[in-house]
Amino acid sequence: MTKAGKVKDIAPHWVFTFGAGRAEGDAAQRDLLGGKGAYLAEMSRLGLPVPPGFTISSEVCAEYYKAGKKLPDALMPMVSEALDAVGKVAGARFGDVDNPLLVSVRSGSRASMPGMMDTVLNLGLNDETVEGLARKTSDRRFAHDTYRRFIQMYGDVVLGIDHDLFEEALENYKNLKGFELDTELKAEHWAEMVARFKALVEQELDKPFPQDLRVQLWGAIAAVFGSWENARAIAYRRLHNIPDDWGTAVTVQAMVFGNMGDRSATGVVFTRNPSTGAKELFGEFLVNAQGEDVVAGLRTPQPLTEAARRASDDRRPSFEGLMPETFADLKAACAKLEEHFRDIQDIEFTVEEGRLWMLQSRSGKRSMQAALKIAVDMTAEGLITEQEAVLAVDAAQLDQLLHPTLDPEVPKLVIGKGLPASPGAASGELVFDADEAVHLKTQGHTVILARVETSPEDVQGMHAAAGIITTRGGMTSHAAVVARGMGRPCVVGAASVQIELERETLSSGGETLSKGEIVTIDGSTGQIIKGRVPMREPTLSTDFVTLMGWADAFRRMKVRANADTPADARQSLAFGADGIGLCRTEHMFFEEGRIVPMREMILADNTEGRRAALTKLLPMQRQDFVQLFKIMAGSPVTIRLLDPPLHEFLPHDGAAIAEVARTLGVTATRLKRRVAGLSEFNPMLGHRGSRLLVSFPEIAEMQARAIFEAAIEAGKQLGTTIKPEIMVPLVTAKAELDLVKDRIAAVAKAVEKEQGVKLAYSVGTMVELPRACINAGEIGKSADFFSFGTNDLTQTTFGLSRDDAGRFLGEYTEKGIIQHDPFVTLDPAVGELMWIAVERGRGSHPDLKIGICGEHGGDPETIRFCEDIRLDYVSCSPYRVPVARLAAAQAILKLKVKPR
Ligand code: ADP
Ligand code: MG
Ligand code: MG
Repeated sequence: MTKAGKVKDIAPHWVFTFGAGRAEGDAAQRDLLGGKGAYLAEMSRLGLPVPPGFTISSEVCAEYYKAGKKLPDALMPMVSEALDAVGKVAGARFGDVDNPLLVSVRSGSRASMPGMMDTVLNLGLNDETVEGLARKTSDRRFAHDTYRRFIQMYGDVVLGIDHDLFEEALENYKNLKGFELDTELKAEHWAEMVARFKALVEQELDKPFPQDLRVQLWGAIAAVFGSWENARAIAYRRLHNIPDDWGTAVTVQAMVFGNMGDRSATGVVFTRNPSTGAKELFGEFLVNAQGEDVVAGLRTPQPLTEAARRASDDRRPSFEGLMPETFADLKAACAKLEEHFRDIQDIEFTVEEGRLWMLQSRSGKRSMQAALKIAVDMTAEGLITEQEAVLAVDAAQLDQLLHPTLDPEVPKLVIGKGLPASPGAASGELVFDADEAVHLKTQGHTVILARVETSPEDVQGMHAAAGIITTRGGMTSHAAVVARGMGRPCVVGAASVQIELERETLSSGGETLSKGEIVTIDGSTGQIIKGRVPMREPTLSTDFVTLMGWADAFRRMKVRANADTPADARQSLAFGADGIGLCRTEHMFFEEGRIVPMREMILADNTEGRRAALTKLLPMQRQDFVQLFKIMAGSPVTIRLLDPPLHEFLPHDGAAIAEVARTLGVTATRLKRRVAGLSEFNPMLGHRGSRLLVSFPEIAEMQARAIFEAAIEAGKQLGTTIKPEIMVPLVTAKAELDLVKDRIAAVAKAVEKEQGVKLAYSVGTMVELPRACINAGEIGKSADFFSFGTNDLTQTTFGLSRDDAGRFLGEYTEKGIIQHDPFVTLDPAVGELMWIAVERGRGSHPDLKIGICGEHGGDPETIRFCEDIRLDYVSCSPYRVPVARLAAAQAILKLKVKPR
């Protein structure tokens, strides 16, 4: 690149030329050249017909912004030199009045941001060169049409004149002349339009349209760099987590003209069908048009292939039918590109008087269904390996396949929007009360539960509902976590939606829906829609099964599910879980017939009272576990002992207090006092987790007994030994764990003696407090396993409650204080605590089994980190299990293979 010695060559390499079968850059340099520039360079190297050009690297974009939106002086001579080289290849010269070179000035960043930034076409025309172009092409009409297109685009993109003003001027002129179609305008009419457009510019800016071609070029290059910071581009980057400092490259490229008559055309083609994945060319084109016309939507493009034309019953000719030879060239180019890039390509092409030119290629965006089919097909074709196929599918998107979706072709009345907390769509009757949801469900109704927020008391109602809406809370609020766990579509934090519980109405977007009215939610987009919308059911294709099979063969980590109920457990197995990583037991105490003895237990003021109540709960718990063990048929099951603060189970209204008072044989007043006595300022940081079990070891004893007796019973029925894993929550020190563990051991001994069998079990702990991470070396000596509870670990590391974070966290990401919502993507500081815990835990207990069971366990990026620190398993909601299986395979493959 740089020749030693000469001062001139010490200058940075900012400009990279391509064309005529050569290029200075290649596809690997997308950081520097942007995707567009890098692929144009690569296409040129492949010998495909690419108009010559050069790319100004994204480094210059950084310089431009550093200098206060000014192009560096050193760039000018480099561009001039490159422009001369381009002219030589193209057989024309920039500014030559007899033989003018026209160029496009195009944007392109390393991440594809389709249509977000600006492009200027047909640059290099002024009052003199336009005549040269007319003479050279013997087509005055074409030359003036091209010139007016240029003024229009340059006026809009570079000079900031409203695009509509030009359109209006053209419309007015057409009306004046009685024309309907652009095709009716002749050379002199376009020349008149040029004059009118120039007058328009002068009127808007008090300055004439620039005639100096260098001024035009600098203006366009600066404008394209500037478009990196237009509002659209910024919004797109936010949405797709693209860093603001990447910048765009600028590609300057010789123009080819699809608007040179009926043997010219422009179009786009995908090398495979991006919607179904079928191996067929898929695209559209326009005769006698420039690329911009396809997107502008003024004319309806025609089908590319004969097959597509027949399928859509289009009477206009296809590209294949109209220009068979050029079509054959295009087909060959598609095959070559796909084989080279080994991925479906999305291609822009232009035909100038029968000759094909390739203007852009990039990997094609595709539906999830297509992604699977293409990955599997390309493996069968020998184009990619199984490893590459597994890496080619976006794990995060896999989710889409597993839930019903709204029929995209049906119009919808969207009345509000919240956070897309749990994917899938559902329609049903609106209800505002969890108990009512349960009641209506038993009567055969389908309901959508709308709440301001949810609490554990609502869980039965959430289960009964087909979908859930909340107006408060973030992506990891109670509603979100529970809904994802159940696979219920859920929209949370819909702040613009008003719920009036008294009147039982939901108002949003000028509409008010009452109880019983039909509402539809889309948990994948966060939309709340009035009325019913038809759904498409998910079908798991054979491609899905094939690809997941490959993923399973590659992954090292096990994938378990967070499953609390028999239904969850069955779903987990159906989605391929290796076991249960977290079975929360608290929900079991909310069920019919259980909440009363639970309350008796909590409100009893001595051990005997508690034991009496627990005795009632024991057989029910045991039955739950028997069922769970039987469903899981010997796969590992981790059961967490009671975790939440007891206040969550307490009665708050008079009637419930009276009922409990009656069964306990005490007065309501006394009971009220007891309820008040149990209230805490900060229950989530209060008397919960192992702390409860330290205070009330009889709870742990009852649960351990239920687990052991169930393991024996289910084991007998299945003819195997079931080895339950008992997990103690919220531990901060070894002594805490030891206290609970001793009680469990004592129960085990007793059960063994009673039943004359030997029990196999393990006891581990949830690692979910910073103090536990620091003390992991000690705790690890007593634990058989660790499971990171990253929800609480994130809350306590940040000192931030996830249910309240939603209100201001958005501001934090916007202002760049944090990069991502830490409740969705694992925060690096939390990761470091986990790393410390792994090091120390394994240091004192080398074969300590370690997993993760927080919400992050289903997040592909977090799963990659878990592979890095060599966790043994990840555990996530049942519906995330396929995502996690794929992500776990990708994580280890990415460590081994460098991704393309
Ligand atoms: P975007 O990134 O928005 O797609 P592009 O830079 O690809 O913008 O250009 C917009 C349109 O102009 C495309 O249809 C493209 O094919 C066309 N185009 C760009 N450069 C040229 C050129 N040198 N000759 C002919 N058409 C071009
Ligand atoms: Mg493009
Ligand atoms: Mg926890």
